[in-house]
Amino acid sequence: MAGGERLNIYADWNPWHGCTKISPGCKYCYVYRQDEMYGSTLASSLCRKTGAFALPLMRRRDGSYKIPPGKIVFTCFTSDFLLEDADPWRPDCWRMMRQRSDCWFYFFTKRIHRLADCLPPDWGEGYDNVLIGCTVENQDRADYRLPIFLDLPIKHRSIIASPLLERLDLSPYLDDRIEEVATGGESGVEARPCDYDWILDLRRQCVEKEIPFRFHQTGAYFIKDGRMYRVRRRYQLSQARKANIDYRIGDYFLPDKVARQVYGRQEMAGIQQMKIELP
Ligand code: SF4
Repeated sequence: MAGGERLNIYADWNPWHGCTKISPGCKYCYVYRQDEMYGSTLASSLCRKTGAFALPLMRRRDGSYKIPPGKIVFTCFTSDFLLEDADPWRPDCWRMMRQRSDCWFYFFTKRIHRLADCLPPDWGEGYDNVLIGCTVENQDRADYRLPIFLDLPIKHRSIIASPLLERLDLSPYLDDRIEEVATGGESGVEARPCDYDWILDLRRQCVEKEIPFRFHQTGAYFIKDGRMYRVRRRYQLSQARKANIDYRIGDYFLPDKVARQVYGRQEMAGIQQMKIELP
């Protein structure tokens, strides 16, 4: 596929908003920053259902789903899907994911230790259409979360090493159960710096194990060759792309193994191709 030409395969689904901080990576959580920026009068720690809760099942006037078949649905991006406060609502979400087996649902979590207690009865070895990204930001959280993550019944796993706060050794956890490692620095005016050496070291570990690796953004303060750079928000993604260090990564913001299946589904579903730029 030519550069810049991509399928319009993404959708967003945010069933609830608001989250409580649980680990060092949460310190400058973007949900809190955005709520403050938009002058929200409700506490960011107050988790509440959104009007889009049932979006996967919502239909247009012509009867078609608002989220068309074949979409990659980024799920619960201003909270944590496994947040305790959302326990009463999650079973309905699993049901919707099950019902919409024609879409893929992708969520990231810092609460992977809760997944076993949150799974639906028919989960089995995992739903085929659910991708789970386990977020790790430092070695301590990696060593706690990743053994749990690898032991769980999940069909599609990725590691999200972001915001990367220090050099990480992920090599004990990299095997063919991991479909991708994605990493990046922290955004925001108070962001903690990310060192390019840490990124390159993670890449080396992935290459050695032949695990796809993606450098998705620099963050606001980026150290390269011992020198710190301030990177404006609008350049943080493009600068990472310019580094051109992704390994075994396709055109899409999802693990390649899944992307290849999605292309197949797209053709079957007859989804129209559009030219868009990734965010
Ligand atoms: S888990 Fe995610 S959404 Fe929740 S406070 Fe931490 S960074 Fe924010």
